[in-house]
Amino acid sequence: MKSYRKELWFETGKRREFINITPQIEQCIRESGIKEGLLLCNAMHITASVFINDDESGLHQDFERFLEKLAPEKPYSQYAHNGFEDNADAHLKRTIMGREVVVAITDGKLDFGPWEQIFYGEFDGKRRKRVLVKIIGE
Ligand code: ZN
Repeated sequence: MKSYRKELWFETGKRREFINITPQIEQCIRESGIKEGLLLCNAMHITASVFINDDESGLHQDFERFLEKLAPEKPYSQYAHNGFEDNADAHLKRTIMGREVVVAITDGKLDFGPWEQIFYGEFDGKRRKRVLVKIIGE
């Protein structure tokens, strides 16, 4: 069995951002040389997510509104976590959007359903953060 590991780094210009990382993930699969197997991709930070959904800008605005309704950023004082930090909302948003995705690799490609794309979801950005890609198979 082959195994591959890589860290992808991101630094967003805004506090919250969604980035389609599918092209980087496809590059990882090519580098791994694995044709049949499983790919795990997870955020290595507790204020960021990796999730699968549609690359449609209206939907991304809907996610932003939905998350702001559930866990609004401000006022910072509404959260017990915000003593030395101001990112309680980011921890909560990350938990809603998830930590990781697992995708089957078939014939050297992501075995996706229609419209599925992999996103990095940043909820406390403007600093360097990373995502782990692990691929196992043959
Ligand atoms: Zn925190």
